[in-house]
Amino acid sequence: MGGDAPVSVQSMTTTRTSDIGATLQQIAELTASGCQIVRVACPTQDDADALPTIARKSQIPVIADIHFQPKYVFAAIEAGCAAVRVNPGNIKQFDDKVREIARAAKDHGTPVRIGVNAGSLDRRLLKKYGKATPEALVESALWEASLFEEHDFHDIKISVKHNDPVVMIEAYKQLAAQCAYPLHLGVTEAGPAFQGTIKSAVAFGALLSQGIGDTIRVSLSAPPAEEVKVGLQILEALNLKQRGLEIVSCPSCGRAQVDVYKLAEEVTAGLKGMDIPLRVAVMGCVVNGPGEAREADLGVASGNGKGQIFVKGEVVRTVPESRIVETLIEEAFKLAELMRQD
Ligand code: SF4
Repeated sequence: MGGDAPVSVQSMTTTRTSDIGATLQQIAELTASGCQIVRVACPTQDDADALPTIARKSQIPVIADIHFQPKYVFAAIEAGCAAVRVNPGNIKQFDDKVREIARAAKDHGTPVRIGVNAGSLDRRLLKKYGKATPEALVESALWEASLFEEHDFHDIKISVKHNDPVVMIEAYKQLAAQCAYPLHLGVTEAGPAFQGTIKSAVAFGALLSQGIGDTIRVSLSAPPAEEVKVGLQILEALNLKQRGLEIVSCPSCGRAQVDVYKLAEEVTAGLKGMDIPLRVAVMGCVVNGPGEAREADLGVASGNGKGQIFVKGEVVRTVPESRIVETLIEEAFKLAELMRQD
């Protein structure tokens, strides 16, 4: 993580961490959906007691998320968690504990994420700035990092989350200009799936396109596997992850000679699970159809009740409209097989 390493996608379990079976089950589902790092909440002693088993059995690195109770930080480090997230704004007398946390984390080689959050900003900074401004978030994070640095501990990652993407983007820009630590990006409490997806995509796009950010978490009021799906799509859209199946479909307009929505949906459904990076163009007429279809690995340009099927830039067949979907799917599987053999 950090430097030239690929940006990774993180999510957080919603189970009680103390329920080891349910938590490991959810981690397995997240792993299958492409999640690369998982965070688990640790608000009670029972949760802390579950950490050794979870950290040992999880297929992906487990980060313990600690608020309020420093004793769980030590438990998580001892448990072999891949990292510990602390929110200094929520830990009383945090400054007094830093020396011990730094020593334990160093002894175990455990990185610490300083997770500053607009909703739990240090009271002193809230008073100084009046609210959670980008400057306040950054000052909080760098102050807390400096406490660790005083004890010669530098294995740090930072996040400065805010629910407003504009504030969040500015905070991360300022942070990136002032420190070289890896950064974990997040728009916190981003909302239900649709709103949260938009906010996260806008914010992460603005930052990642400038090389800011090393891990991301899309926070949605939705099942965590959905967060991972969105996170992976954002990375694909930014070319930070190899694209999987990509459907290039036109929005349709008064010139359309075919039901583009239905066609795009049926092709998407027919190719679900395709693990080869294929770009498939589904276009409604001859205005942009042949151009897009030619540029894609595979495509159709529709018109006059027919579809011209393109494969790697060449028209291979012209079929009646009723056979467009099955022909595209058939050609996609042929092409995928050839690409697999290459
Ligand atoms: Fe309209 Fe044709 Fe463009 Fe689709 S490809 S949006 S139908 S002009």
